[in-house]
Amino acid sequence: MVYLKKFIQDLIEMGADFSTKKALKRSMKLIGIGPENVDRLYIEFKNDHYREKFKSIEPKYKMLFLPQCLRTTRCKAPITEAGYKCVKCSQDCKVYAIKAKAEKMGYRVFISPGGSMNFNVIKKFRPKAVIGVACMKELVLAAEELRIPMQGVELLKSGCVATDVNLEHVFSLL
Ligand code: SF4
Repeated sequence: MVYLKKFIQDLIEMGADFSTKKALKRSMKLIGIGPENVDRLYIEFKNDHYREKFKSIEPKYKMLFLPQCLRTTRCKAPITEAGYKCVKCSQDCKVYAIKAKAEKMGYRVFISPGGSMNFNVIKKFRPKAVIGVACMKELVLAAEELRIPMQGVELLKSGCVATDVNLEHVFSLL
């Protein structure tokens, strides 16, 4: 993957445009790279592309999106118009850990019931940048739609419940 990224970066420097997943997918197909690697590459490129800009924006202008599937299975959070409202019922919960740290820094945090609601929230609050934890499919959907700096963190284990994420990875990007 590292060599492939370097190869693509060289192509970008030569003028190739991989700003959409479709463009990247077509080009990768030509050199025999399967679709399973394209999504991950696409998100890595978006993250690299926006990293410095994202860092330069103050947390109070940024939003963090966490997936509802990252909650514990005993979650007591009620669903509201503003997503799930964490009631801090579990010290072991990764949603709680990430939310507490991000809010202390100044982020607006949204525990998302689903992708379409995220875009409504972005329209409403107009953040200057976003960071999202999600499965690869949701990250790609967001990356294709967003026109502001973003950072995407893929879940370690996806699914509809009891998913997982690398906390240190998320904290390092905040
Ligand atoms: S700490 Fe919050 S998000 Fe986590 S299980 Fe409890 S209410 Fe749900």
